[in-house]
Amino acid sequence: MLFNKVTIIGLGLIGSSIARIIKQKNLAKTLVAVDASKAVCDKVMELGIADEATREIRNGVADADLVILAVPVGACGAVAEQIRYALKDGAIVTDTGSVKGTVVEQVMPHLKDNVHFVPAHPIAGTEHSGPEAGFTELFIDRWCIITPLPDSDIQAVEKVTALWEACGSRIEIMDVKRHDLVLAITSHLPHLIAYTIVGTATDLEEDTKDDVIKFSASGFRDFTRIAASDPVMWRDVFLNNKEAVLEILQRFNEDLTGLQKAIRKGNGQQLEDHFTKTRKIRREVIEAGQAA
Ligand code: NAP
Repeated sequence: MLFNKVTIIGLGLIGSSIARIIKQKNLAKTLVAVDASKAVCDKVMELGIADEATREIRNGVADADLVILAVPVGACGAVAEQIRYALKDGAIVTDTGSVKGTVVEQVMPHLKDNVHFVPAHPIAGTEHSGPEAGFTELFIDRWCIITPLPDSDIQAVEKVTALWEACGSRIEIMDVKRHDLVLAITSHLPHLIAYTIVGTATDLEEDTKDDVIKFSASGFRDFTRIAASDPVMWRDVFLNNKEAVLEILQRFNEDLTGLQKAIRKGNGQQLEDHFTKTRKIRREVIEAGQAA
């Protein structure tokens, strides 16, 4: 048992997956779920994935050794402000947000000196949301990036690391700024592209749209899966990782223009060289066990 009492705030895909693992592996004596929605709290109890589910955030975090913020990135600051005086001395607060810089900026000012904040981001997910979407295998062999702050308490970092190891994750320690840049290219830009492609198809004439859906297996299908991801979560990701996403988007636009030019000029060699390079990346992703 790693903790006496754990409180998870936000029982969606990520929060409910962590809850299931904590219960299954008996990682905490007491597990409390806090969610803004009554329907979510009722579902959590029906599923039996926490000992208690409540909308009373302050009562929920009282006496917790570990509090996990699993709410959309844009809600983390307000949640930290709400729990400020209810946290016990020595409590550890962690999060699961897909962006780290703004979460740190928004959460830190609300935490007392004797509370330890250890930001983290599991690189695992699906396009589904809500407490029913979670499952215990979600984090197995997936990276969890932990971004300790310069003055983070070592024991608190070790505890959060132990939790993610118990979830089956591989751990990477990274600087906050680097995290946001790396994720801008590996996750945020691909989502933006998927939202764009699917949006463009939606705007096409009715007839064409029917054919787009009918023949979606030719590549479009994978984009529709990504573009079905939670709108609130992704709105917050783009608003909170603005700088890094815009920087990567600029590079992407330049590369796209290069390929556009190659097509216009009939430069087959350039296209073939480019596609050979990207095929190699795919092989490396498979070899690294990150393709499933
Ligand atoms: P989700 O399925 O949408 O769940 C979020 C839950 O938090 C919902 O039940 C929501 O309730 C609740 N909530 C929102 N604001 C709240 C507040 N102020 N107080 C209490 N509860 C609140 O989201 P998720 O996919 O689990 O994502 C959670 C976090 O993990 C996000 O920060 C996201 O960036 C990160 N993350 C997501 C993925 C992914 O692929 N999904 C992967 C890695 C990390 P309502 O529905 O009633 O608003």
